Amino acid sequence: MAKKKTQKGYIYERDGRECIYCGKPLKFSQISLDHYYPRSMGGPDDLFNMALSCRMCNKHKKSAVPEDWKERAVRQFKKAVDDEKILAPGIKMKRAELKEIAGRVDKLERMGKVSVFLSKSHSFHVRNDIIIKIAKVKR
Ligand SMILES: [Zn+2]
Repeated sequence: MAKKKTQKGYIYERDGRECIYCGKPLKFSQISLDHYYPRSMGGPDDLFNMALSCRMCNKHKKSAVPEDWKERAVRQFKKAVDDEKILAPGIKMKRAELKEIAGRVDKLERMGKVSVFLSKSHSFHVRNDIIIKIAKVKR
């Protein structure tokens, strides 16, 4: 519950305190959080999939899939790592190093309960806003 609240505050600031769809300025009490890639299709609650929305847009969007959902997920994943909202508590790695290698992510391989992001050298497995595994890859 506490985590959800923190998440909401972060998304509110990150998305510029306005509905990302219609641009309407929103008071914190007015916001709703939209699953950019629809929850009905397996879109997770992670920060990189949540978007600040007014209630109207959230209602009208329903299960539409925005064209840029993968690009947005990559962008927001990297930002959340950089902002230290997505960390890797179980992995022995300095924060600076984590930020550096996550900063090179350029692809979303899979989104779901566990989402997988890829750079040319690493894969990042993320669940509930936590990096649970980092592996070396060759692409
Ligand atoms: Zn709106």
